[in-house]
Amino acid sequence: MEFLGLKQRVAQVRGEIADAVARGGHGQAVRLIAVTKTHGPEAVLAAAAAGITDVGENKVQEALSKQEALTAAGTMPHGLTWHLIGHLQTNKVKALPSFGLFHAMDRAKLADEAAAMAAKRGITLDVLLQVNIVGEETKGGHALSEVPAEAERLHGMPSLRVRGVMTMAPFDAPEAVLRQVFRGAREARELLRAAGHDAHELSMGMSGDYLIAVEEGATMVRLGTVLFGARGG
Ligand SMILES: *Cc1c(COP(=O)(O)O)cnc(C)c1O
Repeated sequence: MEFLGLKQRVAQVRGEIADAVARGGHGQAVRLIAVTKTHGPEAVLAAAAAGITDVGENKVQEALSKQEALTAAGTMPHGLTWHLIGHLQTNKVKALPSFGLFHAMDRAKLADEAAAMAAKRGITLDVLLQVNIVGEETKGGHALSEVPAEAERLHGMPSLRVRGVMTMAPFDAPEAVLRQVFRGAREARELLRAAGHDAHELSMGMSGDYLIAVEEGATMVRLGTVLFGARGG
């Protein structure tokens, strides 16, 4: 696949994001994370050629394979940040140092394991706390009511730097629900800051809802379909 017109789509999406920032009035900078899952390493190269500096993957093994392939070929783009945006099994925390930011710290046990691994290696990991605002059973993440206690706990783990919050809105939800979810995530970020975290990021918004997410203050949007077309098609 060649991903024809990607550069133009990136430019168009960036323009739409700028308009949404203006409408929302939060004045934030927004990072566009190109979600390359299910596509080969050539999608990463196409994204980099289109000026993208952040790529997102939801599966550890798939991401590491792409990183290895690009490194082996000598084509790994310079200055690229890899984001792990999907659910992580506890026994895979060892892979976290291969990513610049982990978006899916969705449960206490995972935080414990990640913090222990990082402390043992003498490194710090940048992570986002995943929140589940409307209590969707199929998705992970902390309820808003759990955030203050978890924020307090995480504050005692110096090997984790909690940079903000990530959320996923229900697929195809009405706009009112989307806004409720995104505002809830913003509130969770305030709770992190109140607990002493240097938490500025709001990772929210996918192809179907990113403009609303940006209006509600998203600082990172995770876009796959809108950039690369439908997956598996
Ligand atoms: C796949 C995925 C995305 C991108 O989804 P699109 O609808 O294709 O933009 C964003 N976030 C997460 C966590 C994903 O798994």
